[in-house]
Amino acid sequence: MVEITNKNIMILGEGASGKAAFNALKEIAKPYFFMPLFNSDDILIDLIVTSPGIGSHPMFDFALKNNIPIISEIELGFLLNEKPIIAITGTNGKTTVTRLIGDMLAKKYKVAVCGNIGLPFCSIVNDNHDIIVVEVSSFQLERCFLFKPHIALITNITEDHLDRHGSMQNYINIKMSISKNQDKDNYFILPSELREFLPEFKSKLIYSDKNAYINCGYIEYKGEKVVSLSSVKIEGQHNKKNIMQAIIAAKLMGVDNEDIIQAIEKFKIDKHRLELVSIVGGKRWYDDSKATNIDSCIAACDSMIGDTALILGGSDKGYDYDQLFENLPKQIKVIFLMGETVFKMRESSSLAKYDPMIVGAEDLNEAVKLAKDLSIINVLLSPAAASFDRYKDYKERGEEFRRLVNTL
Ligand code: ADP
Repeated sequence: MVEITNKNIMILGEGASGKAAFNALKEIAKPYFFMPLFNSDDILIDLIVTSPGIGSHPMFDFALKNNIPIISEIELGFLLNEKPIIAITGTNGKTTVTRLIGDMLAKKYKVAVCGNIGLPFCSIVNDNHDIIVVEVSSFQLERCFLFKPHIALITNITEDHLDRHGSMQNYINIKMSISKNQDKDNYFILPSELREFLPEFKSKLIYSDKNAYINCGYIEYKGEKVVSLSSVKIEGQHNKKNIMQAIIAAKLMGVDNEDIIQAIEKFKIDKHRLELVSIVGGKRWYDDSKATNIDSCIAACDSMIGDTALILGGSDKGYDYDQLFENLPKQIKVIFLMGETVFKMRESSSLAKYDPMIVGAEDLNEAVKLAKDLSIINVLLSPAAASFDRYKDYKERGEEFRRLVNTL
């Protein structure tokens, strides 16, 4: 057991999760923030709490040599909290599924929705909740040791973050570790296609696609009609999958179909996630700036109905773009390539089966201007790349796209 009470706890990272960790600890332990001028011989460290954005740090080596445990802020939240946890991880759809579950549970329970979604787990540990729904990234899971959710859910696993996790196998192992401390009274929800990667587990295994599926215009859970597809307002086949996974978690928690239906009907997709920005010049303009990997971009392209111009590219996360171009659906008629990934993407573009027109664009501004004059129905910003070549993050990129579209 990691001791916390009265311990000297160093916090790495002074962002939202570092600050939340500090505040959660200040009454019960001796927390302090790392400072670059520390002489590690003179300070007392019993435990280190690290923030998800920190990939490497001089303290990591020091801690290893001196047997000092390093935990993530999520693990600290778990250690300070006694309420049941529903934890969601996966490559894509985490935020959407986390929010959906939170909304479905909100009538029956006092629910906290937190984690990677933007509200640190530690910031809610002292509040009075019945249940915690927490989005967990692979970076956070990597430094969890005792974390034990009552329900663990993996949305999907496809290639991402290999720059940090080294290999696909390592990335999968980290995602799967979400269930490692669960026991026979807990649940582990994941798509059946991941069965070959299952580690040893003790919890009740639930394959999401076998338990919730579409049948005759309804989403069914284990043969019971739960919600009509006409109640699903958010676009995209992938979002139906997200809804079905959320339904499984809600059903396990005893939520009524009425509450589930209401949550689905009211649900609005978060900004920059296949979001319809506007209809201008007879075209539907979609901001999917959050699509920073290949699978999320393909999901967005598959969701387009009618001829579409796709705006691709950004900073390189090390992907092999052959997979992207080989899987593009036929409605993608024009592709604008921009950013650091232009050359790699251009090389792979010859593999596209339906032969879209490939156009180089100086930047988002040029891509939007050129798209305006095309005879197509949709313009989709879904870059399949990170944004750091030109922007602070995906939000800034999405905001610029919206601004450009709204001033057309
Ligand atoms: P995450 O929190 O895992 O990044 P989000 O819900 O924020 O997931 O969505 C991120 C991106 O992935 C968006 O572009 C969204 O349209 C896409 N996406 C959401 N759910 C899925 C899914 N189940 N499969 C593939 N792509 C998805």
